[in-house]
Amino acid sequence: MKGIAASPGIVIAKVFKFEKPDIMIDHNTISEKETRAEVQRFNKAKLKTKNQLSDIAKKTLAAMGKEESKIFDAQIMVAEDPMFQQQIEQNINDKRLKAEAALDLAVKTFSAMFESLEDEYMRERAADIKDVGLRILYNLANVEIVSLNHLDAQVVIVAEDLTPSDTAQMDTEKVRGFVTNAGGRTSHTAIMARTLEIPAVVGTKEITSIVKGEETIIVDGIEGVVIVNPTEEELNVFQEKRQAYIEKIKALEKIKQLPAVTRDGRKVQLAANIGTPKDVQGALKSGAEGVGLYRTEFLYMNRTALPTEDEQFEAYKAVAVAMKDRPVIIRTLDIGGDKALSYMNFPKELNPFLGWRAVRMCLDRPDIFKTQLRAILRASDEGNLAIMYPMITGMNEIHRANELLETAKEELREKDTPFDEDIKIGIMIETPAAAVIADQLIKKVDFFSIGTNDLTQYTLAVDRGNEKIAHLYQPLHPAVLHLVKRIIDASHRAGKWTGLCGELAGDERAAILLLGMGLDEFSMSAVSIPKVKQMIRNASFREAQKLVEQVLEMGTAEAVKDCLDKFLKIRGL
Ligand code: PEP
Ligand code: MG
Repeated sequence: MKGIAASPGIVIAKVFKFEKPDIMIDHNTISEKETRAEVQRFNKAKLKTKNQLSDIAKKTLAAMGKEESKIFDAQIMVAEDPMFQQQIEQNINDKRLKAEAALDLAVKTFSAMFESLEDEYMRERAADIKDVGLRILYNLANVEIVSLNHLDAQVVIVAEDLTPSDTAQMDTEKVRGFVTNAGGRTSHTAIMARTLEIPAVVGTKEITSIVKGEETIIVDGIEGVVIVNPTEEELNVFQEKRQAYIEKIKALEKIKQLPAVTRDGRKVQLAANIGTPKDVQGALKSGAEGVGLYRTEFLYMNRTALPTEDEQFEAYKAVAVAMKDRPVIIRTLDIGGDKALSYMNFPKELNPFLGWRAVRMCLDRPDIFKTQLRAILRASDEGNLAIMYPMITGMNEIHRANELLETAKEELREKDTPFDEDIKIGIMIETPAAAVIADQLIKKVDFFSIGTNDLTQYTLAVDRGNEKIAHLYQPLHPAVLHLVKRIIDASHRAGKWTGLCGELAGDERAAILLLGMGLDEFSMSAVSIPKVKQMIRNASFREAQKLVEQVLEMGTAEAVKDCLDKFLKIRGL
């Protein structure tokens, strides 16, 4: 059976089918006289629910930590929400429904509202409303809530879905994996599985109708595959796969915190791309030597007004402090294109990717840009920060952005606010124009970071988000590779350095090529760091340089891929 791979790893164990009793809801109407008693009954069940949730929150805090226990604080807020309460009372008083039916209706209304939202995270919060609703419903019916805290053996939990309260009370020593009908990669079950580091496959749609309980089950959280009652042969195959996975993780664990240096002594920097200060811990755990790209646009999204200078300062400072003396490159606002802000009248454009985005917008709105620059400068006093401008196409943009930066610095000096006077300035090279005149641009800045996600789209004229032409989106197309090489060379000729923060940096196969081109810094999602580090530690710089010479003679992305595959295979990389 195929589902969504939600948490990596492979497990083979017995099924524990987790089912909750169905509660029949009586939809008959009641008389006016009975409404008061129903409201009281609801309030009593709500209070009981609240007490249970505070209890679970306390236990979760002790067992798993603050982040996990927050889920229950949020659930208590749902239970106590005045709009929720009002809706239920209305359903009882006006629609003359019994407490159970009134609750059911309110839960359906509110969860549907959340499910219709754009934001995936908000959509998943509908699960919290349903979870609280179910708990109140059980309390109304005086049905004991089944929990997973007494399990006899090591099991894989199979369920329709798992709610936060199910997983919080779970005996984590005994649970080896999850398989659910519902859920996506950011659903609660998936997040919890990754926190507990157990394999999980979610969104299988029908696993609960296939298993009865006690069957042997294989859960492959890498590929998103589930096998119920496997054959002898399948068991052997997956046992081997499981062993290989464990060995691989062990090997990566050992090298995580070691330097990224090739066998012949070429050292490069491996850094992390982050979206929020929360990502820093994961970055450090994976062995990041810095932050090569802090995408600040997330600070501006999912809200109703621009973030203030102080708010931004706090976020940048948090990252600067947590990373200590490691370098952190903060990219200035890269909004527009496919990322609009609801509170900022963005024009409707025929070609938003070629439109009013990133530094173009910032230069038109010095108020927004300078607020961000002041916040970054202030935070630069707390750590090792650098500033990077996105979507540069020419000298004038750098010139104008630096002018505004100078004004921001002057404003801080006037108020005696400290900042790093030597803060380094870099630009993203993500347009072919910038790549072609890299020799000129480098004179104005301290470093380059290549944004291959956009550079590929602009070089090949292929929209990076359009599925229909996804096969044409090829970061290993020789045209892109020649530009990448050109950019790196230009920076080196000027005695400066180049990083790369597009997805390509986290691709093990491409890493060898980029290494051979002389790339100085590779910035990627934290999870990719250990495997790229391993690749680099096993490689030879001299050989990688020779490989580049060969590859740059090629005419298609397919030929490049073949050549890379052969190179890696021969060397057992
Ligand atoms: C890029 O374009 O490669 C990049 C890193 O920036 P983003 O993906 O945020 O556009
Ligand atoms: Mg980009």
